[in-house]
Parts: sequence; C-alpha cells; structure tokens
Amino acid sequence: MTQTTPTETSEACGCKVGRIATEYGLTDLNDELVRYWTDRTDDRYSTRDLAEHVNQRVLEAALDDAGLQYKDGEVENTYRLLTSDDVSSGTRVQTRKELERDAVPVENVERNFISHQTVYNHLTKCLEAELEEPTDEEKLERSRDKLGALRNRTAAVTEDTVAQLERGDVIDIGEFNVLVNVTVTCEDCKTQYTIRDLLDQGGCDCQSDN
Ligand SMILES: [Zn+2]
Ligand SMILES: [Zn+2]
Repeated sequence: MTQTTPTETSEACGCKVGRIATEYGLTDLNDELVRYWTDRTDDRYSTRDLAEHVNQRVLEAALDDAGLQYKDGEVENTYRLLTSDDVSSGTRVQTRKELERDAVPVENVERNFISHQTVYNHLTKCLEAELEEPTDEEKLERSRDKLGALRNRTAAVTEDTVAQLERGDVIDIGEFNVLVNVTVTCEDCKTQYTIRDLLDQGGCDCQSDN
C-alpha cells in the first residue's frame, strides 16, 4: 500500500534543498529562504549566508532527532567546528567523535550540507524567485549612509589623534573642531562638488545635455 504524501511535502521540488527540507521536516524553509534573499535592507542574506543557514538548520534538526539538548549559539558553533577553515583538523575530528558518541549521524548530516550554488539554483529554478534591483533612489540612500558613516569615523579618529598629540605636547592647539569634507572634481569641466551635492543633484552639470 502506498502512503499519500502530506500536502506540504507534495510541493517539494526534487533538488537537494527540497529533499533535505522533506527529510528534516523543515516546512517553512522555502518561505524563509525567499524572504531572507529578497530582503531589501542591508540585512539581506547572500546565497553563502543562506547555505550556512540551511546547513545549520539541518544540523539543528539532527541534534533534535538525537534528543540532544543544546544552548543558545551551540548549533552555530558546532557547525563552525565542522566546516570552518580556521578550525584545526584535530578539533574537527574531536567534534565529529563527540557527535557520533551522542548518536548524531555525522556523515549523513555532512552529506546533506549544501553549497551556495545549490541554494541559488533552488531559489531561481525551483522557487522562481527573483532578486529585485534596488531603485536608483535606494542606491543613493545606501551610498549616503555608507559615506556618512565613513565621514563620522574619519572625524572621530582625527579628533582623537589631535587630542592625543596635544596631550603629549607634540602639538599646541586651543579648543578645536574637526570637519571632514570630501570633494569630487569632474575632470571634464573641473567643477568641484561636495559628495553630498553631487549625489543630491544626480551628477555634474556639464553632463546634463547628454
Ligand atoms: Zn529545489
Ligand atoms: Zn563636469
């Protein structure tokens, strides 16, 4: 007698991601992957981040299946010990031994780990998800934020440096203010802009006829 497949797994695709989602009962995985991938903030996951996330969920499910208790961050750390290049082979062997002793089928779990390419194929082919390009306005906004943070950092480091030199009697100065100005020169017409003005007006005046 054949068993009828439950609804949520009947939609599973045949690729490796679909197979492990079924095997470990990760029913919300597809929603999660699409949501994290298409997130339009800086928190957006790369396909590498997503692969790591899937693999950690696989590991977590395997630990659950073995009835293991784990603390916050322990799954992530165990995953790192199993996969990171920074971990010595001795530590890795030790980690695998401990998991095996706790009845976790390590080899099987590792075989189920996926690459970023597999996640990408699953997202674009199986789920037909698309990455929306950010709008020009969003790109400008992000650039303003990035450069603003850089400017603040430059100002802070400059202030510290001057203060330190002053304390050491290397330089003499009264109360002081640091102002960071970044200018961009258009080499076609030699006009200088502050980076803020350049972004606000969307380019150099000399190019507006083109
Ligand atoms: Zn798939
Ligand atoms: Zn110009």
